[in-house]
Amino acid sequence: MISLPQSAVTVIDILKKAGFEAYAVGGSVRDLLLGMETKGWDFTTNATPEEILALFPDSFYDNLFGTVGIKIRKQGDTTAPNGNEELEDIYEITTYRSEEGYEDHRHPDKISWGKTLTEDLARRDFTINAIAFDGKSLIDPYGGQKDLNEKRIRTVGIASERFAEDALRMLRAVRFAARLGFTIEDETAKAISSHASSLTQISAERIRDEFFKILTATHAADAILVLKNLGLLLYILPELESSFATPQKSPKRHHIYDVGTHSVMAMKFCPSTDPVVRLATLIHDLGKPKTFRQDKTGLITFYNHEVAGAHIAKDIGRRLRLSKKQSDLLYTLVRWHQFSVDERQTDSALRRFIRRVGKENLPHILALRIGDRLGGGATETSWRLELYKKRLEEVQLQPFAVSDLHVNGHDVMKLYDTKPGPIIGKVLDALFAEVEAGTLQNDRDALLKRMEELKNLAAH
Ligand code: ATP
Ligand code: MG
Repeated sequence: MISLPQSAVTVIDILKKAGFEAYAVGGSVRDLLLGMETKGWDFTTNATPEEILALFPDSFYDNLFGTVGIKIRKQGDTTAPNGNEELEDIYEITTYRSEEGYEDHRHPDKISWGKTLTEDLARRDFTINAIAFDGKSLIDPYGGQKDLNEKRIRTVGIASERFAEDALRMLRAVRFAARLGFTIEDETAKAISSHASSLTQISAERIRDEFFKILTATHAADAILVLKNLGLLLYILPELESSFATPQKSPKRHHIYDVGTHSVMAMKFCPSTDPVVRLATLIHDLGKPKTFRQDKTGLITFYNHEVAGAHIAKDIGRRLRLSKKQSDLLYTLVRWHQFSVDERQTDSALRRFIRRVGKENLPHILALRIGDRLGGGATETSWRLELYKKRLEEVQLQPFAVSDLHVNGHDVMKLYDTKPGPIIGKVLDALFAEVEAGTLQNDRDALLKRMEELKNLAAH
């Protein structure tokens, strides 16, 4: 037996008391039936937007989608929806609709209001998203509950027509499969395969938003292979699609997978939940097809593939319309992913690495490396990587630049009794070099003492 949260019951009651029909619908009803956590309830009603606005003070109208939003207090608060400042959730109430005419495969040319709930459920994408619930009865004309039980994504109505109306639904199908661990039913999958190329009519931003949700879903790695098999990957990451044809198995090399399979496996094992880090892990080796060389003995090499890969990362960032910050992160992670964790490296080599990647991105590039290792067939964590992490922390305790020293130019001027001039920089540089080499502590007294000694040395 399922039940609605009090706040959702209240919304439905307000509409019903005013003489309208009202149901919770869509993702939240689906999640409720699955016993999963949910957010942002959606409602459907025969009240018009104006009638809804009149019933809920502080509601607002989004005329692009014909939806009225109402602000809801934090979960656990049992009072009625209101317009208080400290609100958390937005619930959306949409008037029954029946949509027709999708010239651009994405937006209905016109929103047509529907008269009945059945009509409204008919225009929804998948059976599992087309179940309505008013707190008492479930209205499920398309067998959504059966598909939930059998873990199946199936369109409402004829699949090829539904994807022709709206190509984004193809990615939504894969996204729900990735999140719920469901399979896409045969007719639905066939229709996606034959409509895959219409993804080109969808804006890059919308593709990116869906793709990011897929990358962070529980079954993300399987979903990438589903995208490939359905012919969608070609329109999202063509460089990844073609990398499945680049082998890596060769004498003296540990690789067991082709580049594409390794990429997917690496992303699967990447412990980060950040979509950009997961994307970076997925594309980190895409410079390999371009730099592939095989000698007479059969040995395969990919020299400088991280440089070629970084260019590809830039292209991908641009194509998916990432923000400048996201794009820079994607580029940096791919560019420097080949870092060595050799324990014989000097501190200054580690510091150079930190400077290139940026302190704040160290956890991200380490997450990429963990995915890269485990996705390459390694079974345990490497003691070298663990040691390297420890050393990264240690060297960060040391100053990175002259400005991190616990003395400054004023100290030099005072001690040397001099005015601003080149000598000040020289003294500070000399101190910094000794601190960096580990022969001097970054401690104020020690630095001042050494400064004094340098003065005497200079005098002689
Ligand atoms: P999520 O958990 O990601 O919010 P959701 O199922 O609630 O999943 P929304 O995008 O919030 O997805 O949409 C709410 C509901 O609106 C869906 O469950 C579905 O019934 C309907 N819907 C959304 N997008 C489409 C679409 N492109 N075509 C048809 N119906 C759609
Ligand atoms: Mg939703």
